[in-house]
Amino acid sequence: NNSNNSNNSTTNQLLFKQAKAHIPGGVNSPVRAFAGVGGTPVFISRARGSKMYDTEGKPYIDYVGSWGPMILGHAHPHIIEAVKNAADDGLSFGAPTTFETTVADKICELIPSVELIRMTSSGTEATMSAIRLARGYTGRDKIVKFEGCYHGHSDSLLVKAGSGMLDIGEPSSKGVPADFAKHTITIRYNDPQAIKDCFAQFGNDIACVIVEPIAGNMNMIVPTQEFHDTLRAECTAHGAVLIFDEVMTGFRVGLQSAQAHFGITPDLTTFGKIIGAGLPVGAFGGKREIMECIAPLGGVYQAGTLSGNPLAMRAGIAMFDLLTAEGFYDALSEKVVYLTDNLEQLAKDAGIGFKTTRCGGMFGMFFTDGAFDNQLPQNFEEVCQCDAQKFAIFFHGMLDRGVYLAPSAFEAAFISSEHSQEDLDATLQAAKEVFSEMAKA
Ligand code: PMP
Repeated sequence: NNSNNSNNSTTNQLLFKQAKAHIPGGVNSPVRAFAGVGGTPVFISRARGSKMYDTEGKPYIDYVGSWGPMILGHAHPHIIEAVKNAADDGLSFGAPTTFETTVADKICELIPSVELIRMTSSGTEATMSAIRLARGYTGRDKIVKFEGCYHGHSDSLLVKAGSGMLDIGEPSSKGVPADFAKHTITIRYNDPQAIKDCFAQFGNDIACVIVEPIAGNMNMIVPTQEFHDTLRAECTAHGAVLIFDEVMTGFRVGLQSAQAHFGITPDLTTFGKIIGAGLPVGAFGGKREIMECIAPLGGVYQAGTLSGNPLAMRAGIAMFDLLTAEGFYDALSEKVVYLTDNLEQLAKDAGIGFKTTRCGGMFGMFFTDGAFDNQLPQNFEEVCQCDAQKFAIFFHGMLDRGVYLAPSAFEAAFISSEHSQEDLDATLQAAKEVFSEMAKA
């Protein structure tokens, strides 16, 4: 598969072989193995600004940004200085620090729905803890999630819908006991009627609904306002906790995140990625009354040896310094608009069915030949009807030309403040060449 791509350099092939000797599949997180697009992963040795460099020094304009956190580009001097200073003062204390207070204050100030917030070490811990909290608060077991949304890898959340709406979940990962999965109801994303039907059937047994307010783990879908209004209304009517999983969208689609984009006040919100600037971090927060159920105030237990780690907190504080600068997000979305508009035009010129979607500093790309010509997929089923093989060809063509996209047709793309006009134009030039090759094939 894609044997003509130069990233299949002997160096990367050798490094991958060595990695596989003692690391399952050679990677510490599955998507890194290029399973969805074929070929050999690129081993990165360093990164700066908009670019990553492989072990042979080849540069790549990066649209993955470590899967979201690097909104300031890689190795931003302000962040690196904060982390160096923090390291000089000691790596972890397991005791309160003022840095944790500062980050909590900052997030509560920017996100009005968050009155109390607790730090974790990953997004997975944040969503897992938010679910436990919602169950503890409501005394109910059932949780609702949406097909195609990803909320980390805790047991209850690794459940995907069966084919029908309102199917009681089956484990989509092996190792998740059916007894856990049976409490997870999975319904269709972006479908207000599915929400109504779900609450009509299970109403008062539902502890919470967890949702990616803009989906970024099935490529990217910006759902309708009606979807969000219905979700909020049904949760309120039935006393279910509405959890916005903003691990990806938080401070990515705008300074006040996806909840401000839709004008929705969730009961709980989870964060990760950007708030740690690239260090391991997550957080969950929300309504005081609910958050007060967490230990030591309440009976829902949640803890972490490295939670609120001083390096992560000081990196986060430095991050917020720059995110709150006037016009930061406007500049970011202008770049995304320029890039996606021109990508669509180039594809159109080449006669290739291709659409993009975007919000703030994130965007999605779809090869829509056939059923989806000229419209955007609205849910997981429709995303699956896009041409993943065409994406793989596009991906490798771009990689060969020094543009690093997510190695999967089911991931969103991210831009940083460090992407220059030159980077964007180089990306478009590469895309032009790849589209034209694809059109000839
Ligand atoms: N929720 C969402 C929306 C995510 O995108 C992710 C990670 N991509 C997670 C949760 C899990 O976060 P982590 O990988 O830090 O555990």
